[in-house]
Amino acid sequence: MREVYLDNSATTPLCDEARAKMLEAMDNFGNPSSLHSKGFEASKMVAEAREAVLASIGVRGGKRENLVFTSCGTEADNLALRGVAYAKARRANKIITTDSEHSAIENTLRELEKDGFRVVRIPTHGGVLDMNAFEREMDANTLLVSMMYVNNETGAVYDIKKCFALAKRVNPDVVTHTDAVQAYMKMKLSPTDLGADLITLSAHKIHGPKGIGALYISPSVIKKKQIKPIVYGGGQENGMRSGTENVIGIVGFGAAAKSGMRDLGINVPKMRELHNYAIEMLSPLELRINQPSGECAPHILSLTLPNIRSETMLHYLSSFGIYVSSGSACASNSAQKSISRALSAFGLTDREAECTVRISLSPENTKEDIDALTVHLKDGIEKLVRIK
Ligand code: PLP
Repeated sequence: MREVYLDNSATTPLCDEARAKMLEAMDNFGNPSSLHSKGFEASKMVAEAREAVLASIGVRGGKRENLVFTSCGTEADNLALRGVAYAKARRANKIITTDSEHSAIENTLRELEKDGFRVVRIPTHGGVLDMNAFEREMDANTLLVSMMYVNNETGAVYDIKKCFALAKRVNPDVVTHTDAVQAYMKMKLSPTDLGADLITLSAHKIHGPKGIGALYISPSVIKKKQIKPIVYGGGQENGMRSGTENVIGIVGFGAAAKSGMRDLGINVPKMRELHNYAIEMLSPLELRINQPSGECAPHILSLTLPNIRSETMLHYLSSFGIYVSSGSACASNSAQKSISRALSAFGLTDREAECTVRISLSPENTKEDIDALTVHLKDGIEKLVRIK
């Protein structure tokens, strides 16, 4: 059976470059902290990967301290939020975010709320940030603004550049963070362009390995000591994330970042063209495409089915080798799956959210993949049981 993988926002297949580099790294078992040549070789591999990841967000000549490798995007989000909140707790206690963040952000913020921090969630109705609400909320007591760049369920691109600029005007001491996991290799990503002090990245969404992520930290945040570690120990990663480095994962991340950047100019227009083609092919079907009112990323499409549970459709499509997602994969196996915060923030009712599937593209997808999806989606809509 020909397989059609349309769940690239959940994870992507490993690229050849990452696989080759990781195999190489497997033969070099040295610990980067060791002072002998085995250790030096491993530490050199980590340094090269760090340089490649920094270059992929437009940071040239960045220092070691500007990129902290973590165990995943989730940990990088935790480091950004908890690290900044606790470093600045004596001076301020308000954190501004959006109402549609990934659970890596939302659930970390809920914990911070229990510790006395005040969290304000800015509405994102129709996939557009409410700038008036943000302007009203942004003040001198705000220690951190954390807003995702691309929403993982709807593909909506939030105007974080505008928010971050306004935030800094109101309070030059505020730290700005973006969870850019879904924007990475899909949108131009640069801390100076965006005005972001902290950026979360994850390797497995860009054809790198799972279990490795990173947090970019600006020189100014380091200089002002606006972030604290959340993992203590041997002082690796400039003291910001102790624990022996995942050399194989880091090396794979570096290779994926390098290859992604090399092909970015081809891949993004390719995904955009396919995205447009999918809209054209799916529009005549009995479904609704949840297109953001503002900008949309080139790889995510959210579809609401006519009273057919997303899971029913997902399993139906899967029986034909077509893989899509019912909302965000990170939440779809958890207790929170019944209500998608992002979809209700977008404006969907609970029933509509329950009947919503996400397709997410990679540059490896083709028009034939979309054709196969269209045929089986159409059949499924005709055949599958509808809920009352
Ligand atoms: N943030 C966003 C927007 C995501 O989509 C994801 C994963 O889907 C994460 C964070 C978590 O990344 P990781 O799977 O590397 O922990």
